[in-house]
Amino acid sequence: MDGIPVSELDDLFGSVANELRISILRELWDRYGEPVSFTELQSRVGVRDSGQFNYHLNVLVPEFVRKTEEGYVLTHTGKQTIGAAVSGYFSTEDVEVDSVRAGECMFCGEELTARYEGGNVVIDCSACENLITKMPVPPVTVASTPRENLPQVLGKHVLTLAHQLSRGFCTLCHGRVDSTLTVRSDEESVAYRAALDVKFECRACGDRTHLNAGAVVVDHPAVASFLFDSGIDPRETYPWELLPLLDPETTITSEDPLELELTVRTDGGALKLTLDDAANVVAYARR
Ligand SMILES: [Zn+2]
Ligand SMILES: [Zn+2]
Repeated sequence: MDGIPVSELDDLFGSVANELRISILRELWDRYGEPVSFTELQSRVGVRDSGQFNYHLNVLVPEFVRKTEEGYVLTHTGKQTIGAAVSGYFSTEDVEVDSVRAGECMFCGEELTARYEGGNVVIDCSACENLITKMPVPPVTVASTPRENLPQVLGKHVLTLAHQLSRGFCTLCHGRVDSTLTVRSDEESVAYRAALDVKFECRACGDRTHLNAGAVVVDHPAVASFLFDSGIDPRETYPWELLPLLDPETTITSEDPLELELTVRTDGGALKLTLDDAANVVAYARR
């Protein structure tokens, strides 16, 4: 499927592109889901002309605002619009962070640094010059985090996005995504040595993204329990420090359909995983 054509979203964008309509959304938001009557909403927004107020309110119904017997409430899309506005409150230029310590380099063992520039978190090693990861993170996430906690919070954010994708949801629109195991693309977003990565494409908005195979399987209980038994808690470890997972031994066991064997090694032993062409773990065994 090609997704929903963006040209068809004009009406939807137009519906909220008005100060009065935004005030209506904000008033309803402040009531935490409690229905608000027409008269009360009108007086809160401060519009004398009922006809004018009614017109603008109706533009928001039914996508953003729902009319119930008790009054008006925000729909899920209405709430998401507020969320998007909050998320976009800070511009990427307002939020810049340079060089926070972010753990050890998986290639050379020297110290890594994390910085935030142009809307991306960049983690790289100044000693061996390897780019470890570069991922988009909303400025609001960075702005609401004290500097010293930034690497931990970014690690959790990266893991959350990986879980969301590996569980099949688009990180932008929450539509369903299809995953395909693929030969490594040369885009810069993830620069691990793993031979293969996983491509995701959203059926609804068409967004395309990719992660290395190790980051996708970390959500599997066999992997999480193996790491945990080896003394590694993925929630408390920087994802970019999960060397045994992100740089595992990989063997292509079948070309068509593509099938991959991935061995994760820790001091506690080895875990062998078999991935099908959609990056599902189809078999696993501890060694
Ligand atoms: Zn290094
Ligand atoms: Zn999407």
